[in-house]
Amino acid sequence: MDKTTGRLQKVETMKRRAFLGSAATLAATPLPATATAAANGINLRTRRLNLKHTWTTVMSSSDYRDTFYVEYARDGVTGIGEGAPIIRYKESAATCTAAVQAIQPWLESADPWQFSKVMAGVFAKIDGNWAAKAAVDIALLDWVGQKLGVPLWKYFGLDKADAPVTTFSIGIDKAAVVRQKVLEAEAFPVLKVKVGLANDEEVVDAVRSATKKPIRADANEGFKSKEAAVEKINWLEKMGVELIEQPLPAANLDDMNWIRKRVHIPIIADEACLHPTDIPRLAQHFDGVNVKIDKCGGLLEGWRMIQIARALNLKVMLGCMVSSSVAISGAAQLSPLVDYADLDGMLLIANDPYTGVQVQRGKLILSDAPGLGLRPV
Ligand code: MG
Repeated sequence: MDKTTGRLQKVETMKRRAFLGSAATLAATPLPATATAAANGINLRTRRLNLKHTWTTVMSSSDYRDTFYVEYARDGVTGIGEGAPIIRYKESAATCTAAVQAIQPWLESADPWQFSKVMAGVFAKIDGNWAAKAAVDIALLDWVGQKLGVPLWKYFGLDKADAPVTTFSIGIDKAAVVRQKVLEAEAFPVLKVKVGLANDEEVVDAVRSATKKPIRADANEGFKSKEAAVEKINWLEKMGVELIEQPLPAANLDDMNWIRKRVHIPIIADEACLHPTDIPRLAQHFDGVNVKIDKCGGLLEGWRMIQIARALNLKVMLGCMVSSSVAISGAAQLSPLVDYADLDGMLLIANDPYTGVQVQRGKLILSDAPGLGLRPV
């Protein structure tokens, strides 16, 4: 390694340490409601969230994400929602903005206490743009929670003590950097590692050289064949991996049962699982599903998906995109319902505009403040 690389790596390491230190020790202080005396109306906003580290998966590599926000002001209270647009589904912050703008007069005149009916209208009126729907749903529910003076997890009838630990994602990198990242993620009891790339063995070996804690793996459709998937999954199990997400492309359901007969750890559908209607079909091919609020269009739809999955005896993971504390605090309200949480999106960014759900030694700590319990940074 030359001197410049060494210096850069040292600065990166220090940044990582500072950020992990702060993420692990954030105190669960009581948070005031985000009530602000704004005029009635809806404000749409795009924020560029800067990643702490270049984020590499099978699909892409990037340094920032633009996410979409809805600020819903009514009767002296502002509800805030966020959705992370997903390029794969042909959505961006710009298409989300246009989609909500097109229904804005109708949405502003709708009665937020009828939020379930309002969201049915939003689903009927907006094509695609699931992140836009999610942002509207979260903003409406944040508003309702604040108006009622109850946190949303309580509104949903849940016990915040049931909130699970979240995995912390170790980004793909060279072995020495992976090892360093694992050592610095000491506060997190379960790690998540992306696999499905050429250097899987190198990455997993590097993780195991630094820790014995459980690992969950995500192939993001990256294995090249059913045979390769079986070989890799059985090796991963030997390496202490407790589950694997989406080994093969979403459309390939036929090979999944062939794989499941030859491996032991649960296989969770992610890219194959977008909406409630997907779940009955997936139940015949997977052990569980990953529910993402940005993909399904909000907490009401996410709740529905979790209930359907449970009725079909599936394991449930609650996942996220790279996003701020707004979207993550939204998803976290439902986390007491699930087996596995992968809600570290806000820990991966450098410029989170809010605080909300906290993470203490990996456990999600839900706020007692009304709605999402957000506070501007
Ligand atoms: Mg995944």
